[in-house]
Amino acid sequence: MKKAIYPGSFDPLTFGHLDIIERSSKIVDELVIGVLNNSAKNSLFSLDERVSMIKEMTKDLPNVTVGSFDGLLVDYMREIGATIIIRGLRAVTDFEYELQIAQSNHVQDPSIETIFLTTNLQYSYLSSTIVKEFASYKGDISKFVPAQFIDRIYEKYEKR
Ligand code: ADP
Repeated sequence: MKKAIYPGSFDPLTFGHLDIIERSSKIVDELVIGVLNNSAKNSLFSLDERVSMIKEMTKDLPNVTVGSFDGLLVDYMREIGATIIIRGLRAVTDFEYELQIAQSNHVQDPSIETIFLTTNLQYSYLSSTIVKEFASYKGDISKFVPAQFIDRIYEKYEKR
């Protein structure tokens, strides 16, 4: 039984994330999307909001569940019995950081392997940061995030 975790902030979930979720769920037996509760990061959406947005978008994928963690990823993986980390690689700029993290995690626990999926070309430019940047100026984000999230994202900036 191959249980994997796809960790990230998902603030907010984008089409790029969804693409990785759909593709990786076909490779592993069970996929847990691990939403990072990073209190140091000033997130646009609360942890609960991010978790429920991901649940909404993955409800039809039978082997995908959503969880959250703070602290070390390897500790959370031990807790849930996952041995594979899924990460997306967009461009060479992702590579150096991702390599460092993957190797550190492997040193922490040699039974852990990281699998990298290269981004779908269509989404190679896309990040949660780009979504937030455009939304903060009321720009068009319809090609970046699912339609049902658009107003929720704009509302966050109206309240600020
Ligand atoms: P973090 O805060 O750890 O960078 P993110 O929520 O931004 O987390 O991203 C989580 C994972 O999704 C990372 O592996 C990142 O490379 C990947 N990812 C983000 N955007 C895309 C995209 N457009 N295409 C493919 N992978 C992506």
